[in-house]
Amino acid sequence: MGRPCPHCGQRISRTVDECPYCGARVQSQRPWYVWLLGGLMVLILFLWLGDLSSLAHFAETLFNFARGVGNQAP
Ligand SMILES: [Zn+2]
Repeated sequence: MGRPCPHCGQRISRTVDECPYCGARVQSQRPWYVWLLGGLMVLILFLWLGDLSSLAHFAETLFNFARGVGNQAP
């Protein structure tokens, strides 16, 4: 599950971008393919149901949500 830190050799999580033992900057290995697979499954589900207007609405909702998060003011 883990991976060795390239600096101190301790086993660290794949999702961190900083070693908790020595503080070295490491490249995080977030499983991007999980998101890709999730998106593909949603796409296939909508295509399978033949409901493209729902897919467009879903994409619009996602886009608006992402934009809302980006523009969030305190
Ligand atoms: Zn380390």
